[in-house]
Amino acid sequence: MNFLDAKAAPSREDRLQASIAFGGTCGQVKTCKQAVSQGCTNLSSRRFTMTQGCQFTLSLAILNTLRNAVIIMHGPVGCGTCSTANIGQNKTFKQLRDPNSEGLIWISTNLGEADVIGGGEKKLREAVIYADREFRPETIIVANSCVPALIGDDIDTILTELQKETAAVIMPVHCEGFKTKLMATAYDAVYHGVLKKYVRPPDRNVPLWEPEEKKLRESYRKSRNVNVLNVGSMSRADEVELRRLLEALGLNVTFIPCYAEPEDFQYALETSLNVSICGTHDDYFVGHLEEKYRIPFMVDTIPIGRRNTSVWLQKIAERFGLEQEAERLIEAENALLDEALEPYRKQLSGKRVYIAGGEVRILATAEVIQDLGMEVVGFKAHHYDRFVEPVFEALKNIDTVLFSVATNQPFEMSNILNRLKPDVLITHVGGNNIAAKHGLPLFPLFGPAHNYCGYSGVFEIARRLNKTVRNFEFNRQIARNTALPFKKSWYEQEPFSYIKYV
Ligand code: SF4
Repeated sequence: MNFLDAKAAPSREDRLQASIAFGGTCGQVKTCKQAVSQGCTNLSSRRFTMTQGCQFTLSLAILNTLRNAVIIMHGPVGCGTCSTANIGQNKTFKQLRDPNSEGLIWISTNLGEADVIGGGEKKLREAVIYADREFRPETIIVANSCVPALIGDDIDTILTELQKETAAVIMPVHCEGFKTKLMATAYDAVYHGVLKKYVRPPDRNVPLWEPEEKKLRESYRKSRNVNVLNVGSMSRADEVELRRLLEALGLNVTFIPCYAEPEDFQYALETSLNVSICGTHDDYFVGHLEEKYRIPFMVDTIPIGRRNTSVWLQKIAERFGLEQEAERLIEAENALLDEALEPYRKQLSGKRVYIAGGEVRILATAEVIQDLGMEVVGFKAHHYDRFVEPVFEALKNIDTVLFSVATNQPFEMSNILNRLKPDVLITHVGGNNIAAKHGLPLFPLFGPAHNYCGYSGVFEIARRLNKTVRNFEFNRQIARNTALPFKKSWYEQEPFSYIKYV
């Protein structure tokens, strides 16, 4: 893997043969994936599509977390205004890492019709100089949207020239929405910019007169360093839990990229292993770090659910010869968790659950659901690619369960919910509008204010889920008083009738 000579990261349709349209069962999607090179799911699409994701907005989910940075959204003012939704929490979450952190600062170049004809370069130059003089950030991130890409603004040349005039490092991110239907390409677009502009060896010299013993101690410390690649949907509590588990094995942990500052990326090269939380999120970054800096990486399962967490820990421990320590830790954690989950199992056992969201996360959450004695009746994944393989392994009797691949497409989900009639819906934050009108208890698939990862995450999911299931009167009232926007005839049709396979 080396795409860094290119201006932008390739789309995931091309790089990973990922898919955005499928309707069938878990058993079928797994087989289809194996036949992906024959085009089973890769180029599938829909004859009718209700909504589509944009990689520009998903890129902001990471970019907005970076500390000491100003984001310039180069495009019409509508691109990225979704950031207004997380201004408050963004500041809070940054300050949980560093109390002196600024909140989110962004500027839009506000391109209009005249700029589409005359070009947006002048506005981009003005915005970069303004950001540098007014806010004095360490980094200015320029997120490029569809309009400048379509009219041919050469942002790389402009930004290279501007770099001579600014104190801040300027990082272009090519995340134009129209270039891919696979929103997750956003992660590669961001990491492409980070790898080119943020990651470099630390500027520090080890004095020649440094005592030998100190050098040895430092080298031992580095040999126990791991970078854990956090994701924007993780909470501080998730980081605390994963740090607790890895420190129990004697490892030192650095979390990047979310909520990190530029310096963290330099010291992140002084590590022995890059550990992914989620392959969908990280493979582009860790692959390049291995190629360029010879740092090994681990992309396996996600530490959500007790089996997934145990596998994740064991695989990390193997890299450091700490298998026995990991085994003892896992045993102790499982014993505590079993005791803690018992009352919730009694309440939740037998309930039927539908789970929608990111492919890796939904399957990992299903492990918790099965652990609590509940039944998973269906999944909806934003997209599908090879990173789900290890997560499927933690699940039991799943092959006949419904599996749909759809980036949003609420019409399909509404049809499926109407047929499956689950007792509980676990779904993506922000995707609850139509789902709530079904009158079901809704549990968020993730929440950056709550703990989902590790052993404590399993307990927290159980505790909060139990609360949600016991009282969902608000959603019941929504269902009684509002109508779903689809015609009766749609519910009589097969939910996947608009999917086209190649
Ligand atoms: S698809 Fe293009 S125009 Fe629409 S929000 Fe995304 S970047 Fe902006």
